[in-house]
Amino acid sequence: MPVIGESREVRGFWLAEAVWVTHSAGVARAVAEWMTDGRPGMDVHECDLYRFEDAQRSPAYVTERGQRNFVEVYDVIHPLQPMEQPRPLRVSPFHVRQRELGGYFLEAAGWERPHWYEANAPLAESVELPPRDAWSARYWSPIAAAEARATRERVALYDMTPLKRLAVSGPGALDFLQRMTTNQLAKKPGAVTYTLLLDETGGIRSDLTVARLSEHHFQVGANGGLDLDWLLRHAPDDVHIADITPGTCCVGVWGPLARELVQPLTHDDFSHEAFGYFKARQTHIGHVPVTAMRLSYVGELGWELYTTADLGLRLWDTLWEAGQRHGVIAAGRSAFNSLRLEKGYRAWGHDMTTEHDPYEAGVGFAVRMNKGDFIGRAALEGRSEETAARRLTCLTLDDPAAVVMGKEPVYADGVPAGYVTSASYGYTVGRTVAYAWLPAAAAVPGTAVHIEYFGEKVPATVVAEPLFDPRMARIRR
Ligand SMILES: Cc1cc2nc3c(=O)[nH]c(=O)nc-3n(C[C@H](O)[C@H](O)[C@H](O)COP(=O)(O)OP(=O)(O)OC[C@H]3O[C@@H](n4cnc5c(N)ncnc54)[C@H](O)[C@@H]3O)c2cc1C
Repeated sequence: MPVIGESREVRGFWLAEAVWVTHSAGVARAVAEWMTDGRPGMDVHECDLYRFEDAQRSPAYVTERGQRNFVEVYDVIHPLQPMEQPRPLRVSPFHVRQRELGGYFLEAAGWERPHWYEANAPLAESVELPPRDAWSARYWSPIAAAEARATRERVALYDMTPLKRLAVSGPGALDFLQRMTTNQLAKKPGAVTYTLLLDETGGIRSDLTVARLSEHHFQVGANGGLDLDWLLRHAPDDVHIADITPGTCCVGVWGPLARELVQPLTHDDFSHEAFGYFKARQTHIGHVPVTAMRLSYVGELGWELYTTADLGLRLWDTLWEAGQRHGVIAAGRSAFNSLRLEKGYRAWGHDMTTEHDPYEAGVGFAVRMNKGDFIGRAALEGRSEETAARRLTCLTLDDPAAVVMGKEPVYADGVPAGYVTSASYGYTVGRTVAYAWLPAAAAVPGTAVHIEYFGEKVPATVVAEPLFDPRMARIRR
Protein backbone atom coordinates (compact mmCIF):
# COMPACT_ATOMS: atom_id res chain seq x y z
CA MET A 1 0.00 0.00 0.00
CA PRO A 2 1.11 3.62 -0.48
CA VAL A 3 2.88 5.76 2.10
CA ILE A 4 0.85 8.89 2.77
CA GLY A 5 0.52 11.46 5.50
CA GLU A 6 2.12 14.49 7.11
CA SER A 7 5.52 14.32 8.76
CA ARG A 8 5.29 14.66 12.53
CA GLU A 9 8.74 16.22 12.77
CA VAL A 10 8.33 18.65 9.86
CA ARG A 11 4.76 19.87 9.99
CA GLY A 12 3.44 20.88 6.60
CA PHE A 13 5.63 18.34 4.81
CA TRP A 14 3.34 15.77 3.17
CA LEU A 15 4.09 12.43 1.56
CA ALA A 16 2.22 10.53 -1.14
CA GLU A 17 4.61 7.83 -2.28
CA ALA A 18 4.65 4.26 -3.55
CA VAL A 19 1.45 4.91 -5.46
CA TRP A 20 0.41 2.33 -8.07
CA VAL A 21 -2.04 3.02 -10.91
CA THR A 22 -4.78 1.26 -8.92
CA HIS A 23 -4.30 3.63 -5.96
CA SER A 24 -3.71 6.85 -7.84
CA ALA A 25 -7.08 8.61 -7.81
CA GLY A 26 -7.92 7.42 -4.29
CA VAL A 27 -4.60 8.59 -2.89
CA ALA A 28 -5.02 11.95 -4.61
CA ARG A 29 -8.44 12.41 -3.05
CA ALA A 30 -7.43 11.20 0.42
CA VAL A 31 -4.36 13.43 0.56
CA ALA A 32 -6.26 16.46 -0.77
CA GLU A 33 -8.96 15.98 1.88
CA TRP A 34 -6.41 15.34 4.61
CA MET A 35 -4.50 18.54 3.75
CA THR A 36 -7.58 20.72 3.53
CA ASP A 37 -10.03 19.19 6.07
CA GLY A 38 -7.53 17.77 8.57
CA ARG A 39 -8.55 14.15 7.94
CA PRO A 40 -8.89 11.90 4.90
CA GLY A 41 -12.51 11.22 3.95
CA MET A 42 -12.00 7.45 4.16
CA ASP A 43 -10.05 5.10 6.39
CA VAL A 44 -6.46 5.01 5.14
CA HIS A 45 -4.71 3.41 8.11
CA GLU A 46 -3.22 0.75 5.85
CA CYS A 47 -1.48 3.55 3.88
CA ASP A 48 -0.36 5.67 6.83
CA LEU A 49 3.23 6.87 6.91
CA TYR A 50 3.47 5.90 10.60
CA ARG A 51 2.28 2.29 10.31
CA PHE A 52 5.80 0.86 10.21
CA GLU A 53 7.73 -0.54 13.14
CA ASP A 54 11.39 0.42 13.72
CA ALA A 55 12.39 -3.04 12.51
CA GLN A 56 10.61 -2.32 9.22
CA ARG A 57 12.53 0.85 8.45
CA SER A 58 16.04 -0.53 7.91
CA PRO A 59 17.41 -0.07 4.38
CA ALA A 60 17.80 -3.87 4.15
CA TYR A 61 14.13 -4.47 5.02
CA VAL A 62 12.87 -1.78 2.67
CA THR A 63 14.94 -3.17 -0.22
CA GLU A 64 13.84 -6.75 0.36
CA ARG A 65 10.15 -5.94 0.82
CA GLY A 66 10.17 -3.43 -2.01
CA GLN A 67 11.53 -6.00 -4.45
CA ARG A 68 8.97 -8.55 -3.31
CA ASN A 69 6.20 -6.04 -3.84
CA PHE A 70 6.89 -5.96 -7.57
CA VAL A 71 6.37 -9.74 -7.68
CA GLU A 72 3.19 -9.83 -5.60
CA VAL A 73 1.44 -6.53 -6.27
CA TYR A 74 -1.25 -7.93 -8.56
CA ASP A 75 -1.33 -11.47 -7.11
CA VAL A 76 -4.35 -12.83 -5.29
CA ILE A 77 -3.00 -13.05 -1.73
CA HIS A 78 -4.65 -15.24 0.89
CA PRO A 79 -5.83 -13.10 3.81
CA LEU A 80 -3.50 -14.98 6.18
CA GLN A 81 -0.52 -15.29 3.84
CA PRO A 82 2.54 -13.91 5.66
CA MET A 83 5.59 -12.26 4.18
CA GLU A 84 8.25 -14.86 3.40
CA GLN A 85 11.38 -12.75 3.88
CA PRO A 86 13.01 -11.46 6.04
CA ARG A 87 11.97 -14.07 8.62
CA PRO A 88 12.30 -14.63 11.46
CA LEU A 89 12.69 -10.95 12.28
CA ARG A 90 11.08 -10.26 15.67
CA VAL A 91 10.57 -13.08 18.16
CA SER A 92 9.18 -13.07 21.69
CA PRO A 93 11.25 -14.49 24.57
CA PHE A 94 9.05 -17.62 24.39
CA HIS A 95 10.04 -18.36 20.81
CA VAL A 96 12.45 -21.16 21.64
CA ARG A 97 9.72 -23.00 23.59
CA GLN A 98 7.17 -22.32 20.87
CA ARG A 99 9.45 -23.96 18.33
CA GLU A 100 9.94 -26.97 20.58
CA LEU A 101 6.12 -27.29 20.68
CA GLY A 102 5.94 -27.25 16.88
CA GLY A 103 4.50 -23.75 16.56
CA TYR A 104 3.13 -22.92 13.11
CA PHE A 105 4.14 -19.29 12.67
CA LEU A 106 2.58 -16.51 10.66
CA GLU A 107 3.93 -12.97 10.71
CA ALA A 108 2.53 -9.58 11.75
CA ALA A 109 4.41 -6.28 12.17
CA GLY A 110 7.61 -8.30 11.84
CA TRP A 111 6.68 -10.62 14.75
CA GLU A 112 6.60 -14.39 14.51
CA ARG A 113 3.20 -15.40 15.87
CA PRO A 114 2.20 -19.03 16.49
CA HIS A 115 -1.19 -19.84 14.99
CA TRP A 116 -1.29 -23.33 16.48
CA TYR A 117 1.12 -25.90 17.90
CA GLU A 118 1.72 -29.31 16.37
CA ALA A 119 2.32 -30.61 19.91
CA ASN A 120 -1.46 -30.32 20.38
CA ALA A 121 -2.20 -32.61 17.43
CA PRO A 122 -3.15 -35.57 19.68
CA LEU A 123 -5.88 -33.38 21.25
CA ALA A 124 -7.31 -32.78 17.78
CA GLU A 125 -7.90 -36.47 17.15
CA SER A 126 -11.15 -36.39 19.10
CA VAL A 127 -12.36 -33.17 17.40
CA GLU A 128 -14.98 -33.63 14.71
CA LEU A 129 -15.14 -30.86 12.15
CA PRO A 130 -16.74 -30.57 8.72
CA PRO A 131 -14.25 -30.64 5.80
CA ARG A 132 -13.01 -27.31 4.45
CA ASP A 133 -12.55 -26.03 0.92
CA ALA A 134 -8.94 -25.69 -0.27
CA TRP A 135 -8.82 -21.89 0.15
CA SER A 136 -10.10 -21.69 3.72
CA ALA A 137 -8.00 -24.74 4.66
CA ARG A 138 -4.81 -22.79 3.94
CA TYR A 139 -3.03 -21.48 7.04
CA TRP A 140 -5.53 -23.39 9.15
CA SER A 141 -5.49 -26.62 11.16
CA PRO A 142 -8.09 -28.59 13.12
CA ILE A 143 -5.58 -28.30 15.98
CA ALA A 144 -6.98 -24.78 16.51
CA ALA A 145 -10.30 -26.37 17.48
CA ALA A 146 -8.56 -28.51 20.10
CA GLU A 147 -6.72 -25.45 21.46
CA ALA A 148 -9.98 -23.51 21.69
CA ARG A 149 -11.62 -26.38 23.54
CA ALA A 150 -8.72 -26.74 25.98
CA THR A 151 -8.99 -22.99 26.71
CA ARG A 152 -12.71 -23.34 27.48
CA GLU A 153 -12.23 -26.53 29.55
CA ARG A 154 -8.80 -26.19 31.22
CA VAL A 155 -6.15 -23.50 30.77
CA ALA A 156 -3.89 -22.25 27.99
CA LEU A 157 -0.91 -19.92 27.56
CA TYR A 158 -1.18 -17.32 24.82
CA ASP A 159 1.77 -15.22 23.66
CA MET A 160 0.46 -11.64 23.67
CA THR A 161 3.90 -10.05 23.22
CA PRO A 162 3.28 -8.55 19.75
CA LEU A 163 0.48 -6.30 21.02
CA LYS A 164 1.69 -2.70 21.18
CA ARG A 165 2.36 -1.43 24.71
CA LEU A 166 3.01 2.20 25.59
CA ALA A 167 4.12 3.71 28.88
CA VAL A 168 2.50 7.12 29.37
CA SER A 169 3.83 9.01 32.37
CA GLY A 170 4.33 12.42 33.91
CA PRO A 171 2.34 14.93 35.98
CA GLY A 172 0.04 15.66 33.02
CA ALA A 173 -0.53 12.02 32.03
CA LEU A 174 -4.05 11.64 33.42
CA ASP A 175 -5.36 14.92 31.98
CA PHE A 176 -3.76 14.07 28.65
CA LEU A 177 -5.29 10.60 28.40
CA GLN A 178 -8.65 11.95 29.57
CA ARG A 179 -8.59 14.48 26.74
CA MET A 180 -7.46 11.91 24.15
CA THR A 181 -9.89 9.09 24.97
CA THR A 182 -13.58 8.50 25.62
CA ASN A 183 -13.86 6.60 28.91
CA GLN A 184 -13.39 7.76 32.51
CA LEU A 185 -9.77 7.17 33.53
CA ALA A 186 -9.79 9.18 36.78
CA LYS A 187 -9.80 6.06 38.93
CA LYS A 188 -7.55 4.72 41.66
CA PRO A 189 -4.20 3.17 40.72
CA GLY A 190 -4.82 -0.49 39.94
CA ALA A 191 -7.80 0.23 37.68
CA VAL A 192 -7.84 -0.90 34.04
CA THR A 193 -10.20 0.79 31.57
CA TYR A 194 -11.28 -0.05 28.03
CA THR A 195 -11.43 3.24 26.12
CA LEU A 196 -11.41 4.65 22.59
CA LEU A 197 -9.33 7.11 20.61
CA LEU A 198 -11.62 9.11 18.34
CA ASP A 199 -10.91 11.66 15.64
CA GLU A 200 -12.67 15.03 15.62
CA THR A 201 -15.64 13.60 13.69
CA GLY A 202 -16.20 10.80 16.22
CA GLY A 203 -14.61 8.10 14.06
CA ILE A 204 -12.80 5.35 15.96
CA ARG A 205 -9.02 5.70 15.58
CA SER A 206 -8.30 2.88 18.02
CA ASP A 207 -9.43 1.04 21.12
CA LEU A 208 -7.09 0.99 24.10
CA THR A 209 -6.78 -0.79 27.42
CA VAL A 210 -5.41 1.76 29.88
CA ALA A 211 -4.01 0.53 33.20
CA ARG A 212 -3.33 3.14 35.86
CA LEU A 213 -0.28 1.66 37.55
CA SER A 214 0.39 4.66 39.83
CA GLU A 215 -0.78 8.24 40.04
CA HIS A 216 1.27 9.48 37.09
CA HIS A 217 2.09 6.25 35.30
CA PHE A 218 -0.17 4.42 32.82
CA GLN A 219 0.39 1.35 30.69
CA VAL A 220 -1.57 1.53 27.47
CA GLY A 221 -2.42 -1.53 25.39
CA ALA A 222 -2.70 -0.15 21.85
CA ASN A 223 -3.20 -1.36 18.29
CA GLY A 224 -0.04 -0.16 16.59
CA GLY A 225 2.26 2.60 15.50
CA LEU A 226 -0.58 4.90 14.49
CA ASP A 227 -1.70 5.16 18.12
CA LEU A 228 1.81 6.12 19.18
CA ASP A 229 1.96 8.74 16.43
CA TRP A 230 -1.47 10.19 17.33
CA LEU A 231 -0.55 10.44 21.03
CA LEU A 232 2.88 11.96 20.30
CA ARG A 233 1.30 14.60 18.05
CA HIS A 234 -0.95 15.73 20.90
CA ALA A 235 1.25 15.20 23.98
CA PRO A 236 2.12 18.26 26.10
CA ASP A 237 5.64 18.75 27.46
CA ASP A 238 4.87 17.23 30.87
CA VAL A 239 3.85 13.85 29.42
CA HIS A 240 6.35 11.23 28.37
CA ILE A 241 5.31 8.45 25.97
CA ALA A 242 7.50 5.41 25.34
CA ASP A 243 6.93 2.32 23.22
CA ILE A 244 7.86 -0.47 25.65
CA THR A 245 6.75 -3.33 23.37
CA PRO A 246 10.16 -4.56 22.22
CA GLY A 247 11.69 -4.67 25.71
CA THR A 248 8.77 -6.41 27.40
CA CYS A 249 6.59 -9.46 26.85
CA CYS A 250 3.20 -10.81 27.84
CA VAL A 251 1.59 -14.20 28.47
CA GLY A 252 -2.19 -14.55 28.61
CA VAL A 253 -3.10 -17.32 31.08
CA TRP A 254 -6.72 -18.09 30.30
CA GLY A 255 -9.20 -20.84 31.10
CA PRO A 256 -11.33 -22.05 34.02
CA LEU A 257 -8.21 -23.43 35.76
CA ALA A 258 -6.18 -20.20 35.38
CA ARG A 259 -6.50 -19.32 39.07
CA GLU A 260 -5.43 -22.81 40.18
CA LEU A 261 -2.38 -22.42 37.97
CA VAL A 262 -1.31 -18.90 38.96
CA GLN A 263 -2.24 -18.66 42.66
CA PRO A 264 0.40 -21.08 44.01
CA LEU A 265 3.10 -19.11 42.17
CA THR A 266 2.49 -15.79 43.93
CA HIS A 267 2.24 -14.47 47.50
CA ASP A 268 -0.52 -12.07 46.44
CA ASP A 269 -4.19 -12.97 46.71
CA PHE A 270 -5.56 -13.73 43.22
CA SER A 271 -9.08 -14.47 44.46
CA HIS A 272 -12.00 -12.75 42.76
CA GLU A 273 -12.61 -10.64 45.86
CA ALA A 274 -9.00 -9.46 46.23
CA PHE A 275 -8.10 -9.12 42.54
CA GLY A 276 -11.21 -8.11 40.61
CA TYR A 277 -11.95 -8.08 36.91
CA PHE A 278 -10.27 -5.17 35.04
CA LYS A 279 -7.77 -4.64 37.83
CA ALA A 280 -3.96 -4.53 37.66
CA ARG A 281 -1.22 -5.03 40.20
CA GLN A 282 2.50 -5.44 40.37
CA THR A 283 3.52 -8.74 41.92
CA HIS A 284 5.79 -11.75 41.40
CA ILE A 285 5.26 -15.06 39.67
CA GLY A 286 7.97 -17.23 41.12
CA HIS A 287 11.19 -15.27 40.61
CA VAL A 288 9.71 -12.98 38.00
CA PRO A 289 8.39 -9.47 38.75
CA VAL A 290 5.22 -9.02 36.70
CA THR A 291 2.45 -6.55 36.07
CA ALA A 292 -0.66 -8.73 36.22
CA MET A 293 -3.88 -7.52 34.60
CA ARG A 294 -7.12 -9.38 35.02
CA LEU A 295 -8.36 -9.15 31.45
CA SER A 296 -9.43 -11.71 28.91
CA TYR A 297 -9.93 -11.44 25.18
CA VAL A 298 -11.02 -15.06 24.94
CA GLY A 299 -13.92 -14.85 27.40
CA GLU A 300 -12.42 -17.01 30.13
CA LEU A 301 -11.02 -16.35 33.60
CA GLY A 302 -7.40 -15.29 33.59
CA TRP A 303 -4.60 -12.77 33.61
CA GLU A 304 -2.23 -11.04 31.29
CA LEU A 305 1.22 -11.26 32.85
CA TYR A 306 3.76 -8.69 31.68
CA THR A 307 7.46 -8.68 32.39
CA THR A 308 10.71 -7.53 30.86
CA ALA A 309 12.09 -9.47 27.89
CA ASP A 310 15.07 -10.84 29.84
CA LEU A 311 12.73 -12.67 32.24
CA GLY A 312 10.18 -13.80 29.68
CA LEU A 313 11.51 -17.30 29.22
CA ARG A 314 11.67 -17.80 32.97
CA LEU A 315 8.04 -16.65 33.27
CA TRP A 316 6.91 -19.03 30.52
CA ASP A 317 8.78 -21.97 32.05
CA THR A 318 7.40 -21.23 35.52
CA LEU A 319 3.83 -21.18 34.22
CA TRP A 320 4.39 -24.22 32.02
CA GLU A 321 5.81 -26.31 34.82
CA ALA A 322 3.09 -25.33 37.30
CA GLY A 323 0.45 -25.90 34.65
CA GLN A 324 1.34 -29.51 33.92
CA ARG A 325 -0.92 -30.84 36.66
CA HIS A 326 -3.80 -28.80 35.19
CA GLY A 327 -3.27 -29.98 31.62
CA VAL A 328 -1.99 -26.59 30.41
CA ILE A 329 -1.35 -26.14 26.69
CA ALA A 330 0.17 -23.41 24.57
CA ALA A 331 -2.47 -22.04 22.19
CA GLY A 332 -2.17 -19.89 19.09
CA ARG A 333 -3.82 -17.01 17.25
CA SER A 334 -6.15 -19.25 15.29
CA ALA A 335 -7.94 -20.43 18.45
CA PHE A 336 -7.69 -16.92 19.91
CA ASN A 337 -9.54 -15.36 16.98
CA SER A 338 -12.32 -17.95 17.21
CA LEU A 339 -12.76 -17.43 20.94
CA ARG A 340 -12.79 -13.62 20.73
CA LEU A 341 -15.45 -13.68 18.01
CA GLU A 342 -17.66 -15.98 20.07
CA LYS A 343 -17.33 -13.37 22.82
CA GLY A 344 -17.98 -10.43 20.48
CA TYR A 345 -14.71 -8.59 21.15
CA ARG A 346 -13.95 -6.20 18.31
CA ALA A 347 -10.63 -6.03 16.48
CA TRP A 348 -9.79 -2.48 15.47
CA GLY A 349 -8.75 -2.17 11.82
CA HIS A 350 -11.00 -5.07 10.87
CA ASP A 351 -14.34 -4.60 12.63
CA MET A 352 -14.14 -0.85 13.12
CA THR A 353 -12.09 2.09 11.83
CA THR A 354 -12.32 5.89 11.56
CA GLU A 355 -15.31 5.34 9.26
CA HIS A 356 -17.43 4.19 12.22
CA ASP A 357 -18.60 5.78 15.44
CA PRO A 358 -18.70 3.98 18.80
CA TYR A 359 -22.48 3.50 18.84
CA GLU A 360 -22.60 1.87 15.42
CA ALA A 361 -19.68 -0.36 16.33
CA GLY A 362 -21.26 -1.54 19.58
CA VAL A 363 -18.62 0.03 21.83
CA GLY A 364 -20.69 2.97 23.06
CA PHE A 365 -20.28 1.57 26.58
CA ALA A 366 -16.72 2.96 26.47
CA VAL A 367 -17.93 6.56 25.97
CA ARG A 368 -18.56 8.80 29.01
CA MET A 369 -20.09 11.99 27.62
CA ASN A 370 -20.30 13.54 31.10
CA LYS A 371 -16.63 13.14 32.07
CA GLY A 372 -15.47 16.42 30.44
CA ASP A 373 -14.22 17.25 26.99
CA PHE A 374 -12.32 14.78 24.80
CA ILE A 375 -11.42 14.62 21.12
CA GLY A 376 -14.53 13.62 19.16
CA ARG A 377 -16.99 14.41 21.95
CA ALA A 378 -18.70 17.31 20.16
CA ALA A 379 -19.34 15.15 17.11
CA LEU A 380 -21.05 12.48 19.23
CA GLU A 381 -23.61 14.90 20.71
CA GLY A 382 -27.09 13.61 19.92
CA ARG A 383 -25.86 10.23 18.69
CA SER A 384 -26.64 6.92 20.41
CA GLU A 385 -27.22 3.24 19.68
CA GLU A 386 -30.80 4.19 18.75
CA THR A 387 -29.80 6.77 16.14
CA ALA A 388 -27.23 4.49 14.43
CA ALA A 389 -28.20 3.94 10.78
CA ARG A 390 -25.93 0.89 10.47
CA ARG A 391 -24.51 -1.56 12.96
CA LEU A 392 -21.67 -3.98 13.40
CA THR A 393 -23.71 -7.15 13.52
CA CYS A 394 -23.12 -10.72 14.61
CA LEU A 395 -24.06 -13.42 12.08
CA THR A 396 -23.81 -17.17 12.16
CA LEU A 397 -23.78 -19.29 9.01
CA ASP A 398 -26.80 -21.58 8.82
CA ASP A 399 -24.88 -24.58 7.48
CA PRO A 400 -22.46 -25.81 10.20
CA ALA A 401 -20.05 -26.86 7.42
CA ALA A 402 -19.95 -23.44 5.72
CA VAL A 403 -16.98 -21.10 6.15
CA VAL A 404 -16.23 -17.48 5.18
CA MET A 405 -12.98 -15.63 5.77
CA GLY A 406 -13.82 -11.91 6.12
CA LYS A 407 -14.36 -8.99 3.68
CA GLU A 408 -17.08 -10.85 1.73
CA PRO A 409 -20.22 -8.94 0.67
CA VAL A 410 -23.44 -9.49 2.63
CA TYR A 411 -26.84 -9.41 0.90
CA ALA A 412 -30.08 -8.47 2.64
CA ASP A 413 -33.28 -8.97 0.64
CA GLY A 414 -31.09 -10.02 -2.27
CA VAL A 415 -29.18 -6.73 -2.57
CA PRO A 416 -25.65 -5.92 -1.32
CA ALA A 417 -26.07 -4.37 2.12
CA GLY A 418 -22.68 -4.60 3.83
CA TYR A 419 -19.56 -6.68 4.25
CA VAL A 420 -17.97 -9.15 6.63
CA THR A 421 -15.31 -7.61 8.87
CA SER A 422 -14.03 -10.70 10.75
CA ALA A 423 -14.98 -14.34 10.59
CA SER A 424 -13.88 -17.60 12.16
CA TYR A 425 -15.29 -20.98 12.87
CA GLY A 426 -16.74 -20.83 16.40
CA TYR A 427 -15.57 -24.13 17.83
CA THR A 428 -17.71 -23.80 20.96
CA VAL A 429 -20.90 -22.79 19.11
CA GLY A 430 -20.31 -25.27 16.27
CA ARG A 431 -20.63 -22.95 13.27
CA THR A 432 -18.92 -20.02 11.59
CA VAL A 433 -19.28 -16.66 13.33
CA ALA A 434 -19.07 -13.58 11.11
CA TYR A 435 -19.26 -9.91 12.06
CA ALA A 436 -20.60 -7.62 9.36
CA TRP A 437 -21.68 -4.03 8.80
CA LEU A 438 -25.41 -3.93 8.00
CA PRO A 439 -28.12 -1.25 7.84
CA ALA A 440 -29.89 -1.00 11.21
CA ALA A 441 -33.12 -2.37 9.68
CA ALA A 442 -31.34 -5.61 8.74
CA ALA A 443 -29.32 -5.84 11.95
CA VAL A 444 -32.20 -7.39 13.87
CA PRO A 445 -31.74 -10.88 15.36
CA GLY A 446 -33.50 -13.49 13.27
CA THR A 447 -33.01 -11.65 9.96
CA ALA A 448 -31.94 -13.99 7.15
CA VAL A 449 -29.10 -12.74 4.92
CA HIS A 450 -26.60 -14.20 2.42
CA ILE A 451 -22.84 -13.92 2.34
CA GLU A 452 -21.19 -14.30 -1.04
CA TYR A 453 -18.20 -16.66 -0.95
CA PHE A 454 -16.54 -17.54 -4.29
CA GLY A 455 -19.78 -16.83 -6.15
CA GLU A 456 -21.93 -18.92 -3.80
CA LYS A 457 -24.65 -17.28 -1.74
CA VAL A 458 -24.14 -18.73 1.74
CA PRO A 459 -27.21 -18.40 4.04
CA ALA A 460 -26.59 -16.70 7.38
CA THR A 461 -28.72 -15.33 10.20
CA VAL A 462 -28.39 -12.23 12.37
CA VAL A 463 -28.01 -13.31 16.02
CA ALA A 464 -27.94 -11.54 19.37
CA GLU A 465 -24.41 -11.06 20.70
CA PRO A 466 -22.28 -12.18 22.34
CA LEU A 467 -22.85 -15.79 21.43
CA PHE A 468 -20.86 -17.08 24.37
CA ASP A 469 -21.39 -16.34 28.07
CA PRO A 470 -23.35 -13.07 27.72
CA ARG A 471 -23.66 -12.84 31.52
CA MET A 472 -19.86 -12.95 31.98
CA ALA A 473 -20.23 -15.77 34.50
CA ARG A 474 -17.01 -17.43 33.35
CA ILE A 475 -14.88 -14.29 33.67
CA ARG A 476 -16.28 -12.67 36.81
CA ARG A 477 -15.80 -15.39 39.36
C1 LIG B 1 8.48 4.31 -15.00
C2 LIG B 1 7.22 4.03 -14.24
C3 LIG B 1 6.63 2.78 -14.30
C4 LIG B 1 5.46 2.51 -13.61
N1 LIG B 1 4.90 1.25 -13.69
C5 LIG B 1 3.75 0.99 -13.06
C6 LIG B 1 3.13 -0.29 -13.16
O1 LIG B 1 3.64 -1.19 -13.84
N2 LIG B 1 1.99 -0.54 -12.48
C7 LIG B 1 1.40 0.44 -11.75
O2 LIG B 1 0.34 0.19 -11.17
N3 LIG B 1 1.95 1.65 -11.61
C8 LIG B 1 3.10 1.97 -12.27
N4 LIG B 1 3.68 3.22 -12.15
C9 LIG B 1 3.03 4.22 -11.28
C10 LIG B 1 1.88 4.94 -11.98
O3 LIG B 1 2.32 5.45 -13.22
C11 LIG B 1 1.39 6.07 -11.10
O4 LIG B 1 0.99 5.51 -9.86
C12 LIG B 1 0.17 6.79 -11.67
O5 LIG B 1 0.43 7.28 -12.96
C13 LIG B 1 -0.20 7.95 -10.75
O6 LIG B 1 -1.36 8.57 -11.25
P1 LIG B 1 -1.75 10.03 -10.86
O7 LIG B 1 -2.99 10.36 -11.63
O8 LIG B 1 -1.81 10.15 -9.37
O9 LIG B 1 -0.53 10.97 -11.29
P2 LIG B 1 0.10 11.18 -12.76
O10 LIG B 1 -0.24 10.07 -13.68
O11 LIG B 1 1.53 11.54 -12.53
O12 LIG B 1 -0.71 12.46 -13.23
C14 LIG B 1 -0.44 13.76 -12.73
C15 LIG B 1 -0.73 14.72 -13.88
O13 LIG B 1 -0.73 16.06 -13.36
C16 LIG B 1 -0.01 16.88 -14.27
N5 LIG B 1 0.46 18.03 -13.51
C17 LIG B 1 1.43 18.10 -12.57
N6 LIG B 1 1.54 19.33 -12.10
C18 LIG B 1 0.60 20.08 -12.72
C19 LIG B 1 0.19 21.44 -12.62
N7 LIG B 1 0.79 22.30 -11.80
N8 LIG B 1 -0.81 21.86 -13.41
C20 LIG B 1 -1.45 21.00 -14.27
N9 LIG B 1 -1.12 19.70 -14.38
C21 LIG B 1 -0.10 19.26 -13.62
C22 LIG B 1 1.10 16.02 -14.80
O14 LIG B 1 1.59 16.51 -16.02
C23 LIG B 1 0.37 14.67 -14.96
O15 LIG B 1 -0.27 14.55 -16.21
C24 LIG B 1 4.85 3.53 -12.83
C25 LIG B 1 5.46 4.81 -12.79
C26 LIG B 1 6.61 5.05 -13.48
C27 LIG B 1 7.21 6.47 -13.40
